[in-house]
Amino acid sequence: MSNEAKDPNTLEVSVSETVGTGDGMGSPAPAEKTEEELKFEHEAAVKKVLERKVFLSEKYVTPHQKPARRAKDADLSRILEDAALMHEMCMVGRGEYTNAYAIAHTQINDTDPLRFFVTIKGEIYVNPVIVGKSHELVTIKEGCMSYPEEPMKATMRFKTATMKYRTVAHKVNPETGESIGEYSLTKETTTTFTDVMSNVVQHECQHLNGWSIYNEGSNATRALNEPVAVII
Ligand SMILES: [Zn+2]
Repeated sequence: MSNEAKDPNTLEVSVSETVGTGDGMGSPAPAEKTEEELKFEHEAAVKKVLERKVFLSEKYVTPHQKPARRAKDADLSRILEDAALMHEMCMVGRGEYTNAYAIAHTQINDTDPLRFFVTIKGEIYVNPVIVGKSHELVTIKEGCMSYPEEPMKATMRFKTATMKYRTVAHKVNPETGESIGEYSLTKETTTTFTDVMSNVVQHECQHLNGWSIYNEGSNATRALNEPVAVII
């Protein structure tokens, strides 16, 4: 789900760290760079950022309606790898959107999408299912990173949404309580979301169920109920 539309042409790249002034402890200050050199460095840094933005933008797949499958413990390495990418994608935005509240795995995978989404804060919600909702509905304007050219759309949402999910946590040494540098999926947690996060979790669960706000027939209930899994 996208954040508010802002000017996408503003990219700020700081090169101040490349301009040393010495540490004042006797080591010589590096030779001052010419304006030409600073300009060259700045342009190179901007180019690098823009190239990364293009690389991330190409990770989006063409919108599709394949629902995500529930993730298993064995999927953890895929989740971690793609979540890092999706987190970065949230931060750089796409098209008119300078950033996104969250991205669902179905937005970057159309062959074996897993049921998880990542927020701009780096939170990973695995196997999210909305298990409760308010009676009250609200209408808010939403955009979608899979449709960067579409205008934002007035969308009906339940005012609050209660979601069951797992997340990813550090494995800890039971004796010391310290991280052992590995991760695992947590047990299921249930949280009731309000305000913007309520809209975000509904938008992302809707994606994971195979729907987007721009699909014909989209409505508030598309975020509810996982589609029945097909067992071959
Ligand atoms: Zn979306």
